[in-house]
Amino acid sequence: MRVFGAQKESTIAKRMTHARRISEVYVEADFSYRSTKLHGDRWLLAGDAAGFIDPIFSSGVFLAVFSGELAADSLNAVLDCPRKAKRLFPRYEKTVNRAMDVYLRFVDAWYTKEFIEVFLTPHDVLGIQPAVNAVLGGNVGNCFAIRWRMSVFYFLVWLQRRYPIVPRRTLVPKKEESSLPIERVGAMP
Ligand SMILES: Cc1cc2nc3c(=O)[nH]c(=O)nc-3n(C[C@H](O)[C@H](O)[C@H](O)COP(=O)(O)OP(=O)(O)OC[C@H]3O[C@@H](n4cnc5c(N)ncnc54)[C@H](O)[C@@H]3O)c2cc1C
Repeated sequence: MRVFGAQKESTIAKRMTHARRISEVYVEADFSYRSTKLHGDRWLLAGDAAGFIDPIFSSGVFLAVFSGELAADSLNAVLDCPRKAKRLFPRYEKTVNRAMDVYLRFVDAWYTKEFIEVFLTPHDVLGIQPAVNAVLGGNVGNCFAIRWRMSVFYFLVWLQRRYPIVPRRTLVPKKEESSLPIERVGAMP
């Protein structure tokens, strides 16, 4: 592992030999973005052009295909009958925004401790576990059976913050692990 890291660093060092810093050093902590409008006069935005959600759940390709397919259907109908744009384009925007909302909520929650604790301690109660899997697998439709289960799931996450319903977890290493030499902690078999 260390040799690999060293090789990377020397490669970068070589490339940066003549580099010159031209601005302050910035940190980019959140690379999610969304376009405020997804349609206009004779155009629709799909995929990354419409928005990109933090890739923790790998939603990028799914959202690109999902919105691309919807955009194609809308355009097809509008090319046949241009008057339909008034109704179909806003509907397209609403559907894609709703799908992005689903993932954005997941991603926002992921960065909280209580979400991780509930998410990593799955119990198949009320079919919540399959509902979460279905959403992560691309079921972003307006299906009531999934929506209410997701509401219960987020309620459990909310509850966990106040009253632990599953064991608390910590990212701080246990004492005996943290006192090991770095080589042993990071050693590959
Ligand atoms: C390093 C990396 C890893 C990723 N890993 C994952 C992952 O594991 N899972 C996942 O779901 N998503 C992942 N993503 C995100 C995913 O790749 C994107 O969300 C997805 O490809 C978006 O698809 P798209 O069709 O909107 O855009 P793109 O795939 O970017 O396609 C846009 C195309 O348009 C072309 N183009 C641009 N401008 C013009 C122009 N003026 N004229 C003609 N053509 C043009 C480009 O060349 C490109 O081919 C990753 C992204 C990156 C950068």
